[in-house]
Amino acid sequence: MKKYVFIDKEGIEFKNLLSGPAQIGRILNYIIYAGDGILKHRPGNRNDTFANNIGSAWCIEFMIGLGLVRLDSIVDGSSNVYYTRLTPQGMKIYNILVENAIMPVFEHKSNPKYTLKFLKEHNALNIVNVFEEVFRQTIIFKDLCIFLDLDNIDTDELVMNKDKFMEGIFSELCEFYTKTPYIRKGHGASTAGNRVPSLLQLLEFLKYAYCKDGDVYFNIRALKKGIFNKTYRLDITERHLISEYEKEEKILNRLADKYGIEGNRTVSTRVRLSQAQLIFKERLKREYGSFCWLCGIKNDNLLLASHIKDSSLCNIYDKAKNNNGLLLCAQHDKLFDSGLISFEYETGKVMISKSLTKDDRKLSNISEDMRLQDKLMTDERRNFLKWHNDNKFFD
Ligand SMILES: [Zn+2]
Repeated sequence: MKKYVFIDKEGIEFKNLLSGPAQIGRILNYIIYAGDGILKHRPGNRNDTFANNIGSAWCIEFMIGLGLVRLDSIVDGSSNVYYTRLTPQGMKIYNILVENAIMPVFEHKSNPKYTLKFLKEHNALNIVNVFEEVFRQTIIFKDLCIFLDLDNIDTDELVMNKDKFMEGIFSELCEFYTKTPYIRKGHGASTAGNRVPSLLQLLEFLKYAYCKDGDVYFNIRALKKGIFNKTYRLDITERHLISEYEKEEKILNRLADKYGIEGNRTVSTRVRLSQAQLIFKERLKREYGSFCWLCGIKNDNLLLASHIKDSSLCNIYDKAKNNNGLLLCAQHDKLFDSGLISFEYETGKVMISKSLTKDDRKLSNISEDMRLQDKLMTDERRNFLKWHNDNKFFD
């Protein structure tokens, strides 16, 4: 068996070397989220719908292996969910993305060619160079070179059957690092076919390889360039610790710079301002808890960050201000947003529109004794509630 790099002391595991799906577009998105301080990791989480800003676990694990992010403290009040933090290498890429005002696009289903085209259109192709620099310091890069036996190849190109490559590198690394034989299990989380494609995508993105007709063509000359002259070291110098709130303000400032404090109403701006909405919801959860503040329902898919003063009438900062919001379930959000209920701005007591029938009140779980808790009745929120009482409540 070949001698691969030892990882024991690097704080990473086999799953960090080969993991997927971690398409390059998705990695770039995650770098932005991590840099903005809103990417969280829950081991085993499969999707990235971002209901709670929790990314796909496999993608984050691969990014750890690439030295782009590392795990930070555990999220308050939840077991097994971690904050992520960019490493200085990840920061480099983040800064280029931010300088070029590239926001998450969620085009992770597409191939590396799309991502390259996207970066070219945004004048950010220098990201490829930084990525290359980062990648060349990783264990997976070194292991790839060992697997291909680069020292003993003197051609410029090496062709290998794609399945053979995927099965080969996966089984060798799996056996080396986990000390257990690799048993092919069809389609599943721990198979070559599922996890090596992320590495292949990265190789294609960096022009180290391309796939064609079931074969992989490795660019040996490119792979050999300045090889092994750096020792692997995951640089985990502390980034200055800033509070969640400061991180969020930073994002809002950036959005305001880019789109104007009032924003405008083009489709693309609306998409981009969804980031303000994410911050808004996070702030409300932090303020009082992750449940409908009226009825207590907890399922996150049913919870909405509800604006007291209409979002469309607010500038970016007011869009994300927790005092301009209530965390409500879909039902109560709809009642509040359509003015069928409001809350007395002095007491927080619920106001119910006369147009809501007795039956409808009962069926929508609304009663006269409901109220906002005193803790929520800040001066600023009272002002927003007064606006809602005067302008939206449908008496
Ligand atoms: Zn509710």
